[in-house]
Amino acid sequence: MARHLLVTNDFPPKIGGIQNYLWELWRRLPPDEVVVYSTPHADAAAFDAAQPFKVVRSREPWLLPHPLLARRVEKMADYYGAELVILDPAVPVGLIGPSLKVPYGVVLHGAEVAIPGRIPGVRSLLNRVLSGAVGVIAAGGYPAQQGERSLGRSLPVSIIPPGVDAERFAPLDQPSKRAARSELGLPTEGPLVVSVSRLVPRKGMDTLIQASVAIRRIHPEVHVVIAGAGRDRRRLSSLIAKLDAPVKLLGRVEADALGLLYGCGDVFTMLCRSRWGGLEQEGFGIVFLEAAAAGTAQVAGRSGGAHEAVVDGETGLVVDDPDDADCAAESILQLLDDDECRTAMARAARERAEREFSYDVLADQLAAAINAMVRQ
Ligand code: GDP
Repeated sequence: MARHLLVTNDFPPKIGGIQNYLWELWRRLPPDEVVVYSTPHADAAAFDAAQPFKVVRSREPWLLPHPLLARRVEKMADYYGAELVILDPAVPVGLIGPSLKVPYGVVLHGAEVAIPGRIPGVRSLLNRVLSGAVGVIAAGGYPAQQGERSLGRSLPVSIIPPGVDAERFAPLDQPSKRAARSELGLPTEGPLVVSVSRLVPRKGMDTLIQASVAIRRIHPEVHVVIAGAGRDRRRLSSLIAKLDAPVKLLGRVEADALGLLYGCGDVFTMLCRSRWGGLEQEGFGIVFLEAAAAGTAQVAGRSGGAHEAVVDGETGLVVDDPDDADCAAESILQLLDDDECRTAMARAARERAEREFSYDVLADQLAAAINAMVRQ
């Protein structure tokens, strides 16, 4: 495949969704054709030495879109014989693209394009980057759509969504579910609704807390557990106490326990919402995929790309108005009350996670997208 240079501020050992996405994809490409240029980190030496491809670290802590960076990237591309440079994300790092002599592509994740795409001055910079790119890799249909909306025309875009580790997240049989609940200190009987996410307003945990009270009217034994930490914790705790809701906040759960948590629930939900007139939306919602791989049907709020992660009526349900706690409760109840439908959705969700969201499959698609950019 085409030799290329990936330039990014977000690469492991830094932790985060984008870092994980890039690493899971790029480590599966032919290593001789990949060079990564990223920023320093205390653990970088050990991490870089363990990679099958070359990683070069900058001296400065942050790659800023400065003419000096453009010259440095060009020199590196020349030195390593890269036919193409991929800039991640499109803003700010991608801003050096139009001044490069070597062809470039960009990666779009979501927020970094949705917000600049609606601010006039920044939007014209973003559009220059997009129109000069030989190709765009979008981490979902939503960022692709935001990029095309900003530019006002179609883009040479390849949609490569985030993947999921279908071994780490795997379905549990009934005895294992019961054992998992007991290991996690959760009730072994009664319906269990699970949620996992950072505790921030976009994730709609307040709606879930309100919905839990409506669900309890039908299922007095219901329990809702929410894993994750964040600035909203105190507000959510107060709401739980005020409503005497059947909800437990678990705080940050260890990575090893997360697979058990997804697998032992009857339904997974995250009622993500759009905020600030649509400026803030759910990019994709990797937690839905993790739940899907764990064989648990999901209920999502309609926001950004969440409906790409959850196929409405097939792998779960998408609630059109995620601020409406009654509608959310109705969707969760629909799954809790229909064993056949819930089981079929859980199975379909697992199959889809394996078929469409395996990083091996996605990396093949990425390789094809990069080759197509070079042929432009
Ligand atoms: P984002 O944070 O808005 O990008 O939300 P995503 O849904 O895309 O990603 C959240 C990621 O954080 C998922 O991989 C979750 O499994 C992970 N995560 C959220 N809360 C916890 C937690 O309490 N423990 C662990 N181990 N992972 C978590």
